[in-house]
Amino acid sequence: EVGMPNLIKEAKFSVGVFLDLLSETTDDYLYMWDIQNGTFYVSENAYDDFDIDRSIEDDVITIWGSVMVAEDLKLWLEDLQLIQDGVKDYHDMEYRVYRKTGQIIWVSCRGKVKTDEQNRPLFMIGRISNIGKQNYQPQIDTSTRKVIGAEALLRWHSPKHGEVSPIEFIPFLEENHLIIQVGKWVLEEGAKQCLEWQKYDPDFTMSINVSYVQLKENALLEYLKNEHIPKVSAKNLILELTESCWVPNLHFLNQEFKDMHEMGYGIAIDDFGTGYSSLSHLKELPANVIKIDRSFIKGLSKGSYEYIFLEYIVKLAHIIHLKVCVEGVETKEEFDTVMQASPDYIQGYLFGRPVCAREFESLYFASPKER
Ligand code: C2E
Ligand code: CA
Ligand code: CA
Repeated sequence: EVGMPNLIKEAKFSVGVFLDLLSETTDDYLYMWDIQNGTFYVSENAYDDFDIDRSIEDDVITIWGSVMVAEDLKLWLEDLQLIQDGVKDYHDMEYRVYRKTGQIIWVSCRGKVKTDEQNRPLFMIGRISNIGKQNYQPQIDTSTRKVIGAEALLRWHSPKHGEVSPIEFIPFLEENHLIIQVGKWVLEEGAKQCLEWQKYDPDFTMSINVSYVQLKENALLEYLKNEHIPKVSAKNLILELTESCWVPNLHFLNQEFKDMHEMGYGIAIDDFGTGYSSLSHLKELPANVIKIDRSFIKGLSKGSYEYIFLEYIVKLAHIIHLKVCVEGVETKEEFDTVMQASPDYIQGYLFGRPVCAREFESLYFASPKER
């Protein structure tokens, strides 16, 4: 249990309770905005981390001015006005703010507004989440044994709980729709990094995980169409969606992926082989890569079900011009067996764990090693 989700769920809309809550939290920042008199409360821990001047803590503008970049601050002020004029809904507000350290956090204002009998807003309560950073895991081309790309993997470092796995916090982000904002950041950050590594290899690809929620709300496609993500070309980015989300929603997801595909983005079917068997759909999917789930690597030996499955999928995929990436290869033995099925790419601890950008660079670019 990550801890932070419950705090907000249990929060009551009274200043007293809220202030109690504030003093309890350590690894998440909370705020409450008393809309009627304009007072803005933030949790104790936010003061240190954001360099907020306590003497002006009643002034919402000044408080946020010290942590927001100019364009977001402007947006925030405009939104405040729109809300006060009754034009805009609180539920639409989400902001990105930057810490002094360069780390990104997210301000969510979703769904927690207390109104009076005349339905006028009284308080807004929200959470500022600290979503750490991205790690990158190398992907190896089996024919050249060189690193050809990376998968970006989200990390959240909590002072209280240590490194929290994305498996734990992604569902929370999805539930709160924060994944839409975080997903944009993941994409931008990945794209920026990819562009930087294209200095070393112009064909370098960055694989980005995409959540079903981003697709369901059409947020990703809209974003890709309307915003200019860093000038990395579409073909260097690969969007990954897990098979278990894709297959039951083939109809509308295929359309969305077709559009992205036509825009030039690479598309990968993640965790292939788990849950839904989509062999019959394989031909229709607008995809470039199939990623075989690492559960197939466990118990892999020549002649086993897992091995035959792998060999079969590779053959099938190649007929319809899909590439195959095998995930989760940890040992030399696994690698040797996997290689007999002739997949195109491998991603696994044997070749490298997910590491931060700087480490990735020094491991795979600064002094390129034969692997
Ligand atoms: P995934 O997309 O299947 O990512 C691969 C996971 O397998 C990663 O776990 C990676 O660290 C792990 N892995 C790679 N090679 C090996 C290996 O050889 N052995 C073992 N035991 N594990 C290996 P991680 O980083 O914990 O991510 C878990 C999942 O969280 C991802 O699974 C993905 O579904 C999700 N995720 C991560 N980042 C994002 C993101 O930015 N957005 C979204 N929507 N989901 C994300
Ligand atoms: Ca993935
Ligand atoms: Ca996977």
